[in-house]
Amino acid sequence: MVTISSLKVRHGSRTAYNYYNCRCKKCRAGHALRAKQYRARKKEQILTDNPPHGELSTYNNYGCRCEPCREVKKASRKKGGMQ
Ligand SMILES: [Zn+2]
Ligand SMILES: [Zn+2]
Repeated sequence: MVTISSLKVRHGSRTAYNYYNCRCKKCRAGHALRAKQYRARKKEQILTDNPPHGELSTYNNYGCRCEPCREVKKASRKKGGMQ
């Protein structure tokens, strides 16, 4: 197994986390930060694009969790539809 310390990979970077599967404190923190930024970007996108709510694509693509979007997701699950 390749150890990350033998490579010039910066801990906390996406590469270390995703590619080398490093889960040290730094890498986990970096990942959490990126996830946070990602969610913030998506939120902004929802405001700018103003996608139709209550549609599965909005739930999936924008990560919208408003009530109509959550409802349609719930309904799709009930149908047993695999995506
Ligand atoms: Zn690490
Ligand atoms: Zn929505």
